[in-house]
Amino acid sequence: MATFKLQPPAFRPLPLGSISPTGWLQRQLRIQADGLSGHLDEFWPDVRDSQWFGGEAEAWERAPYWLDGVIPLAYVLGDQELIAKVTRYIDTIVEHQQADGWLGPRAMIAASGAAVQASYDLWGQILTTKVLLQAYEVAGIAGGDPAVREARRSALLRALRCIDRHIDRAPLFNWGQFRWFETLLSIAALYEETGEAWLVDLAAKLHAQGFDWPAFFNTPSGWPNAEPTPHGRWNYMSHVVNNAMAVKAPALWWRFAAAESDRTAPAAMIGQLLAHHGVATGMFTGDECLAGHQPTHGTELCAVVEYAFSLEVLLSVLGDPAFGDHLEQIIFNALPATFSPDMWSHQYDQQANQILCTVQERIWNTNGPASNTFGVEPNYGCCTANLSQGWPKFAAHLWMMTQDSTGLVAAAYAPSAARATLGGVPVVVSLETDYPFRDSLHFTVTTEAPATGSLWLRIPAWAKGAAIRLPDGTTVPPATGTFYEVNRTWEGTSELDLTLPMQPELRKGYGDAVAIQRGPLTYALKIGEQWQRINEDEPFRELPHADWEITPTSRWAYALAVDADTLADDVQFHEHPVGAVPFSPEGAPVSATVKGRELTEWDEEAGSAADVPLSPATSEEPLEELALIPYGCTDLRITEFPQLARDE
Ligand SMILES: [Zn+2]
Repeated sequence: MATFKLQPPAFRPLPLGSISPTGWLQRQLRIQADGLSGHLDEFWPDVRDSQWFGGEAEAWERAPYWLDGVIPLAYVLGDQELIAKVTRYIDTIVEHQQADGWLGPRAMIAASGAAVQASYDLWGQILTTKVLLQAYEVAGIAGGDPAVREARRSALLRALRCIDRHIDRAPLFNWGQFRWFETLLSIAALYEETGEAWLVDLAAKLHAQGFDWPAFFNTPSGWPNAEPTPHGRWNYMSHVVNNAMAVKAPALWWRFAAAESDRTAPAAMIGQLLAHHGVATGMFTGDECLAGHQPTHGTELCAVVEYAFSLEVLLSVLGDPAFGDHLEQIIFNALPATFSPDMWSHQYDQQANQILCTVQERIWNTNGPASNTFGVEPNYGCCTANLSQGWPKFAAHLWMMTQDSTGLVAAAYAPSAARATLGGVPVVVSLETDYPFRDSLHFTVTTEAPATGSLWLRIPAWAKGAAIRLPDGTTVPPATGTFYEVNRTWEGTSELDLTLPMQPELRKGYGDAVAIQRGPLTYALKIGEQWQRINEDEPFRELPHADWEITPTSRWAYALAVDADTLADDVQFHEHPVGAVPFSPEGAPVSATVKGRELTEWDEEAGSAADVPLSPATSEEPLEELALIPYGCTDLRITEFPQLARDE
């Protein structure tokens, strides 16, 4: 009997729990666990009283969303209290699985929660397969109870069986139809283990019923989403979160169908999104549907964390280092910027040019007036539930194994240690670094017995002049935009140094506005900020969460005296200690100074900075020295600036 074989991914993520964050990343994850993420179930009704856990509140996506991020958070931190907490919730879901395999409540709700629908949108089940897959993987950690692992595996298989039967008679629609491909993650994992042919048939059925994303992006008459979504219009195809998730769909399906076009589609889709809706953070806008280049349009937090996860999957399946470059850009800029430094509040929509976070109507396409305020659930609670996955999944994807298990891949960079096996021998590789705030990375490989294999180091495309000092003391210049292979027999402790020189670059955006980027970081004007608490009569006051408006206390309407040819002289960078809260205006570990002039005619308009004045701009105002900090450290900022005329 011929057995169908899945296409193997280029790199396999290490089992959850194999990678431990260290240095600033460990502190960042601790901030997250001590903030909203680790405490949401203690006070937020949609998780605390969720029908998934026996309560009477939300019954569809919110509790599973929270678990999807807080499970990896607990395990990458190795936080026993948080592990115990998520274990109780996973056990509840597994123990209450219905006889036909259905997970959780069989509630009939509309996506908006506003009206009752005749049938269930399968997205809640699909999302929970993603959760159970992680729960199953962590149950395999050394010392785990095999019975627990088997119970979770069996629950996942039965849930997939249930989806299989369900869509025979009730084909996918709405969210389930547009997010069908998320099911492929667990189908692929279980098929590789069991070889049960119905799993492949289920994948084919979902593919046939689900929305054909690559075909939509490749419409011969032109991509229907090329233009910003008209004000007041909303649809599934231009929904920013759906698009952020969908860029990985072809790669996941390639593992089943093996069509070369599915390997090239993700980069092409990303190219289209950024070409028509990209801003200087590396994200595309959507508030809540794709909104064009204007730096005052919003990008929803769910889109940021889903896009990061998509890039992690693409890096794993396709092995293209460019996805790693882009992943770091999203994680180090758009992700931290949209949280308060203590991660007790977050935005629904962030703006690249964000001068005021207040409750008022803005140019959003359909989002509400509270969308850019910082709070527990500004605008709508999806992001509150879904925000947890950003940092932990990044930490869990820093290191991967090559498909043939002969190499350990440094896929993305942040301080961490990974336990893996090379040539059958256990090794520990650690990375000490303050990257992305510094350009030097120090690796230590430790093994108790000689281990033969490769260490593959990602060399970002921007890292011109990169250098690797090998364990034998020689220095080599690796090519940028590649993985550099260090192949040897590792014995005892070996050390390597990687230097990734960061040069400033000018990015041109909307209306020729310029943004300053250096390495993976985008820099933005630091604006003085005044935080004002709002909604103080809201319940659940026992924990330090709250809703906030932020108003500026310093001027922001500047044009920069910069030029692409002289940028290295125009901008000076300064290092500061990498402290307890690196992603905060006061804790910024690096800053830049640049000269500029105020543009008195550039004003606020409807709660945002008016359109960026066209470049080259002229001004009679005095030349001032301006301070920029990494975008991820800001709460208020200008990121896309007019450029002063050269002789100014
Ligand atoms: Zn959201």
